[in-house]
Amino acid sequence: MIEALDVVVVGGGQAGLAAGYHLRRRGLEFTVFDARPAPGGAWQDTWDSLHLFSPAAYSSLPGRLMPAQPGHTYPDAGHVVDYLADYEKRYDLPVRHGVDVHAVDRDGDRLRVETDCGSWRARAVISATGTWSRPFLPTVRGQEVFAGRQVHTTGYRSPSDFAGQRVVVVGGGNSGAQIAADLALAGVELTWVTQRPPRFLADDIDGRDLFDVATARHRALLEGRGDTGGVASLGDIVAVPPVRAARDAGLIPAKPMFTRLTEDGVQWADGSQSRVEAIIWCTGFRPALTHLAPLRLRGRRGHIATDGTRVLQEPRLHLLGYGDWTGPASATLIGVGRPAREAVHQIAGLLRI
Ligand code: FAD
Repeated sequence: MIEALDVVVVGGGQAGLAAGYHLRRRGLEFTVFDARPAPGGAWQDTWDSLHLFSPAAYSSLPGRLMPAQPGHTYPDAGHVVDYLADYEKRYDLPVRHGVDVHAVDRDGDRLRVETDCGSWRARAVISATGTWSRPFLPTVRGQEVFAGRQVHTTGYRSPSDFAGQRVVVVGGGNSGAQIAADLALAGVELTWVTQRPPRFLADDIDGRDLFDVATARHRALLEGRGDTGGVASLGDIVAVPPVRAARDAGLIPAKPMFTRLTEDGVQWADGSQSRVEAIIWCTGFRPALTHLAPLRLRGRRGHIATDGTRVLQEPRLHLLGYGDWTGPASATLIGVGRPAREAVHQIAGLLRI
């Protein structure tokens, strides 16, 4: 039997929950399918020492402020998981955990959603599957001969897993800097490599300022005042306390990228080689959109063409939380509320509710 719903939300992390909040307020009939068995989205899998780059109140979803975490200005990932689990319960959001959505396709006047526990027909779909399940690894010469260990950001948990090893951390973004600092402060022998010299934001800038800058840029673009440059113009790395400590102690000098991997290490541009037991690739993510493949949607650089969250080639489908291309700062806790509200507003209009 195929069940019918107004809206299906694919993904029950922060983006899916923010959508659920607004769908509930609008009185729409919906279900959220989330592949993970428990609430909290990707925050359940981050490394042990990860803390947010904004204080709790600036990391809140619509309707409910994140409570402060006692003893921490910047809450840890466990606190975010607790907040999201509480949010789901408080608003009685119909999240079905442990359900994987394989495919979304057109089915007459509806969209058909295929899951590992049955099929649904929906008048609209919000895809909020994040990026964590699609780690990006660059192609590097010698990758196949390197006999050491290679993990992506998604596989890193704690410095104790690398005790006594020589480690190279690759990547000049927040994950690279934070994992390099985590290892260096724990005394692991570390080389941090980046494609260009690391660009730290000023020490007094945190997620609050970044959200303000992203919002100002969005407004300027909407009002035709031109591009103010956004967050990227300020730098790449938020100088969170551990990063600042490791940088100021001279523990994380960055080197230019190696040219190739060897059987037991890396080779540098001058031809010299270093022995290394492990490489940690902090090289980013791609949007997890494979369930949308049957719709054959196109866009540039692996993205699907949207106007805000609405997919141009399929207006019954909205993409939420993947990055600035689906709403300014939409891949952050505080930033996803506004595009979620707008997506639900448009869906309600489409459904004439
Ligand atoms: P996710 O949390 O990944 O949730 C998506 C959910 O969808 C998952 O539960 C997944 O299992 C499920 N799913 C995926 N595919 C399917 C499918 N086919 N069928 C069913 N379910 C599916 N943001 C901040 O605001 N502050 C920070 O300090 C901050 N720090 C960050 C640090 C790191 C290292 C990273 C990587 C990101 C950080 N972010 C931060 C960004 C962002 O808030 C998180 O990445 C957040 O987890 C994104 O939420 P999401 O709901 O979009 O995706």
